[in-house]
Amino acid sequence: MRSLTRFVRAQRGASLAAGAVVTFLLVLFFSLAFGWVNPLASVAALFLAGLLGGYVTGPGARRGATAAFIGALVGGALAVAGLIVIITSGIYPLPFVPENPSALEVAGLVAAAVLPALFFATVGGMIGGILRERRERALAPPPSLAVTRCEHCGAPLPSEAVYCPQCGVRRL
Ligand SMILES: [Zn+2]
Repeated sequence: MRSLTRFVRAQRGASLAAGAVVTFLLVLFFSLAFGWVNPLASVAALFLAGLLGGYVTGPGARRGATAAFIGALVGGALAVAGLIVIITSGIYPLPFVPENPSALEVAGLVAAAVLPALFFATVGGMIGGILRERRERALAPPPSLAVTRCEHCGAPLPSEAVYCPQCGVRRL
């Protein structure tokens, strides 16, 4: 438990949690909205959920993937719990689902629902984290501005300066 809290702190827990929550809500929403529409729609939706969660969590592929994985795991588990309730209660006859499924058939359905969710959401989270990293890098000021110094007096020089603003010596 202590190593978990240390891990969360090291990952900057707040944004990690935010990314996991975003993924969780989207996975839940998308799986309820598109889950049984068609497999391609739900794969795209899971990927998108992970992408947005990973972007919120970023920067970095690993952070994005971690948050998306956690969110998809919880969201997928809840969606599957709902699925099982629907199957066992028989409220609504679902396609591809036998009338009175055995425990093994239910386990197969759960695996078929959760494993793709984890995979596609995590891939999305990875890409979201990378996109966030790229954007932050693009927004950061170029490091060369402050690094250059006048060879004569040592004052910091803008990279495009020809004369030193401090002592007026021409730059080499
Ligand atoms: Zn100078």
